[in-house]
Amino acid sequence: MKNIIIRWSIFIVCLFVVYFVINEKVHAIAQANIQSAMVLNLPQYTKQELIDSVPARMKYLLTRTKGVKFLIHKVKKGENLWGIAKQHGYSVHTVIGCNPQMKTYNVSVNEKLLMPSSGGSLHPVSKTDTWKSIAEKYNIDESILKDTNLNVRNLTEEPYVFIPGKKPAVDLLNESMQEKYALRDLFRSPLAGRLSSTFGTRRHPVTGKISRHGGIDIAVKTGTLVGAAADGIVTVASTDVGHYGTAVFIDHQNGYITHYGHLSKILVRVGQRVKAGQIIAKSGATGRATGPHLHFTVKKNGVSLDPLKFLW
Ligand SMILES: [Zn+2]
Repeated sequence: MKNIIIRWSIFIVCLFVVYFVINEKVHAIAQANIQSAMVLNLPQYTKQELIDSVPARMKYLLTRTKGVKFLIHKVKKGENLWGIAKQHGYSVHTVIGCNPQMKTYNVSVNEKLLMPSSGGSLHPVSKTDTWKSIAEKYNIDESILKDTNLNVRNLTEEPYVFIPGKKPAVDLLNESMQEKYALRDLFRSPLAGRLSSTFGTRRHPVTGKISRHGGIDIAVKTGTLVGAAADGIVTVASTDVGHYGTAVFIDHQNGYITHYGHLSKILVRVGQRVKAGQIIAKSGATGRATGPHLHFTVKKNGVSLDPLKFLW
């Protein structure tokens, strides 16, 4: 009797073992099938197709990435790159980094832009890239990079991968964008504020006449600290510089000169060498000004250029 119970017990245990082994096998096969089906179904594109078509780029990224969503922003009247980036909660670098078709900062109505759900950039994959080399280039954790690009199986066969939270690599942008980034490396903004008047022709706020505005006006309250836009030597520091009122001029010794007008207080003297970002003055409303603001001019070889070409 005891013998029979033991035999039956062994038999039942064996049945369970066989059941679990088969179950695992079936499960593993199913899993493998799902994965290979996913890999097989991934839409394939060339790099050029992804540059030319925003919807294709969106589809491509949606099928390969995890933890980040992509949508298409259709530019509406009155929108600019900076405003669009802000609406989505990140900087213009993300918009530029996800839109390799862009050759200028100017966007046109109905233009399509690819917008990720959080900041980051696309990296154009080269034949020599590895996950490690890409992680090092952008100073990002390799595991984060791989997790984000979860469905990328064969890295060097993919046109792009997404780099979460990083600015685009300037050396991999198109030539036109590389030039634009290079100009912005020259200067930093003298202060943060609201742009109240742009460069070019305008109706003068004081005289009412149509005139050319040789710089930009940044509305800030009197006493705001003004920093040098780049390294250079102070060539003018005076309380009596015509329309500018109290102003500072800096020669950057590379053909560029910057002007800072309508100041309330000067903190440097002529001939002084200054560093980029060094505080040179306090803003004000001296000279021909309707309210407190900083007037900022950039000149190259004597010609006034749009300072917004140089500031982010
Ligand atoms: Zn001005």
